[in-house]
Amino acid sequence: MLAYTEARAKVIETVSARCGTPPSETVAVAEALGRVLAEPVVADRDYPPFDRSTRDGFAVRAADAGAVPAVLRCIGEARAGAAFAGEVGHGQCVQIMTGAPVPRGADAVVMLEHTAVAGERVTLHRAAHPGQNLVPRGSEARAGQVLMRPGLRLGFAELALAAQVGRAELGVFRRPRVAILSTGDEVVPVEAQPGPFEIRNSNSIALSAQVRLAGAEPVLLGNAPDREDRLQQCIERGLREDVLVLSGGVSAGKYDLVEAVLERLGTVACFDAVRIRPGRPAVFGVCGETFVFGLPGNPVSTMVTFELFVVPALDLLSGMPARPLATFRARLAAPVRQRAELTHFLPAEVRWEAGEPVVRELPWQGSGDIVALVQANAFLLVPETRLEWEAGEWVDVLPRRDRL
Ligand code: AMP
Ligand code: MG
Repeated sequence: MLAYTEARAKVIETVSARCGTPPSETVAVAEALGRVLAEPVVADRDYPPFDRSTRDGFAVRAADAGAVPAVLRCIGEARAGAAFAGEVGHGQCVQIMTGAPVPRGADAVVMLEHTAVAGERVTLHRAAHPGQNLVPRGSEARAGQVLMRPGLRLGFAELALAAQVGRAELGVFRRPRVAILSTGDEVVPVEAQPGPFEIRNSNSIALSAQVRLAGAEPVLLGNAPDREDRLQQCIERGLREDVLVLSGGVSAGKYDLVEAVLERLGTVACFDAVRIRPGRPAVFGVCGETFVFGLPGNPVSTMVTFELFVVPALDLLSGMPARPLATFRARLAAPVRQRAELTHFLPAEVRWEAGEPVVRELPWQGSGDIVALVQANAFLLVPETRLEWEAGEWVDVLPRRDRL
């Protein structure tokens, strides 16, 4: 049985070896959040395109403002969007606003707060040095320079940069399509009134949200009963997509049929158990062109195993490197004790107390307890190598990507 780090590495290795460059498509920049860039984005001109003032004040020749107080004559103004037509000569200055081009002749800007103005007469109370309070033309980027390369996930800053250089449309990789199939005779659609021993299909909804958060496209296939023929039909449908994620039916029960059906369909299994709780029976394999994950059906198990194993596969299939598992350390609020020699992912709440992250395990009834999970913004990681921790120790925490 693999450790979770080994299982993750196995997913990354298997998917990297088989996935080529995804096909690309064009989207409007405003619609491109979370997509992965498929083409380089190049500076269309120098940035900034002119020597840009970063303050409201006066554009001066620094040499005139070496010794203070210095008195200069104001000969005009430069506002954002328009240049001052003339040139700043010896003993002169130009009133300037933030974002305006620094006029010819001037090489520094003195903040308004450091001046006294009486008509055309401007007294500087602070000395200026060349380059002060301005960003020289081309210092951020040169025309033609590659600013972003293919494989970059587009967040707000990346979209702002694309917009700045005039890219109203962007070439991005097609999102991987992820078939989601839940299994179980007891599982009914969300709209249905469950019988006394039935439960609603919450896993398909959670998985679809996790797929979207990972930047991929969910394809909801509903639920398959615990009967080999029907299960096989549904799985065959799922194998038409880039990835198939199943929930349930991978444990050792009499009606856990997923692995047998996957095997019959020719799936090459990479692992079928991981040393974690929740989520121990998680399955990963390749069937034809499709990567298949069989996640255990308990809702918290499904969610945790998706975060650990499916997210890196979706990154790679999106055309970018697999992002690291973004754990961080927090101080433990109360002792934790686990028995099973597995790495535990316990629903937990992280709060910042005096600037320091403090983590608390939440009470829960095990991996079916979605009620408790809603209180959690993270999972507290108890490694298999050490199952008992004291209050005040620093422990690893895996944030919920949608909450922290
Ligand atoms: P299984 O992995 O099939 O043994 O299921 C484990 C537990 O998860 C059982 O209590 C199931 O009822 C529950 N479960 C399975 N599938 C779903 C689902 N789609 N939505 C919510 N709970 C589920
Ligand atoms: Mg089941």
